[in-house]
Amino acid sequence: MPLRPIVRYPDPRLKQLCRPVELHELPGLRQLVNDMAETMFAAHGAGLAAIQVGEPLRVFIVDAEIAGRPPTDPPLAFINPELVLLGGATELTEEGCLSFPGIYVPIERALRCRARALDLDGQPFEVEGEALFARAMQHENDHLNGRLLADYVGRLKRKMIERRLQRGDVEDDGR
Ligand SMILES: [Zn+2]
Repeated sequence: MPLRPIVRYPDPRLKQLCRPVELHELPGLRQLVNDMAETMFAAHGAGLAAIQVGEPLRVFIVDAEIAGRPPTDPPLAFINPELVLLGGATELTEEGCLSFPGIYVPIERALRCRARALDLDGQPFEVEGEALFARAMQHENDHLNGRLLADYVGRLKRKMIERRLQRGDVEDDGR
């Protein structure tokens, strides 16, 4: 069952603090990451965190092309990531999220971001990205700490977003 349903706001599972993956769990993680990749592609997303398919683990993926890899590569998987550097100027851009279909929120993010994480073999790696890649890492890392688009807006706008998503009449344009 590779395609998984995407958990949508305001499902309370999205608000939890995700836990680190333990080393002995790594072998079982490959299937989860494959499922996440298929789910992200099917929804035309740029990135996806494990909690968005209901697994409260510190794991996210970013689309290969956005991560500066050949587009035929699998998404870049980050296990137990840490953002070790946020730098450069900041940029205010509208951001979407697969857990908020049809909703876009302007969010100010650093234009440069460096992350340290484990790969699926448990090997540590570091990667630095700019612009969209930097934004994607910051967005996905937010998910691991239960931080969502709705946390970047005021109370009234948050209520509007909740109502819109609960009505379920938004067109799903997949961002
Ligand atoms: Zn998201």
